[in-house]
Amino acid sequence: MAKKMIFLMSEEGVSEGALQVVQHSIIEVLKIASSENKLFNRVQVVNWGYWCSPRHLLGNLPRPFMSMDWYLNIAREKGTDRINTDKLYRILNPNPKPEYVKIPHFDHFKVVVLKSEIVHPFNPSLKAYGTGRSGLGACITTKGFTDNNISDVLDLKTIAMHEVGHMFGLIPRSRSTAVEESSGLHCTNRCIMRQGKLTVMTSDRIRYGEFCPDCKYILRAAFRALN
Ligand SMILES: [Zn+2]
Ligand SMILES: [Zn+2]
Repeated sequence: MAKKMIFLMSEEGVSEGALQVVQHSIIEVLKIASSENKLFNRVQVVNWGYWCSPRHLLGNLPRPFMSMDWYLNIAREKGTDRINTDKLYRILNPNPKPEYVKIPHFDHFKVVVLKSEIVHPFNPSLKAYGTGRSGLGACITTKGFTDNNISDVLDLKTIAMHEVGHMFGLIPRSRSTAVEESSGLHCTNRCIMRQGKLTVMTSDRIRYGEFCPDCKYILRAAFRALN
């Protein structure tokens, strides 16, 4: 059976350390989601980092689809440094890196680590740490985080696991308990899929675990349904 791919990539200037934290977070979610079956063996995380293909420039301009810079230029809000991640998902998902172009879009996810700010999809006056779209991908920003600051590293992991949870289908419309509509559907249990203060979410994650039983159940079911 073909492996399901998760392509991890970053904006220029994102540290290798931050990429590693996000890669590790994806693997943690995979382990939780697949603990009752062997699906973890069928999913592969590939770390592209900040990438560009050979001949990605036409003169001084990035050629379409050939580099991370091209995608991010398109997704940047005019006149700002902020990335509109919905725009980024729209252009990224049908078009993986040219070398992988034969892989149908439904067979892979994209996880993008940014250093630019992210436009909050529901309220432009709020700061967004990341976004995640079911079946498509996740974006996480490292803006304001320092690599060697342990609490920043732990918070980054909380954000990455939350957005990857969204990418794997949390929270589905069909769920009727412990759910609220607040910047999209979120869990109301003590769980990383809730909305709340990041530092509290991180200390709860470490103390009580990442996902509540409701979210874990859905995550595992979603995994069994893949392919
Ligand atoms: Zn969320
Ligand atoms: Zn939950």
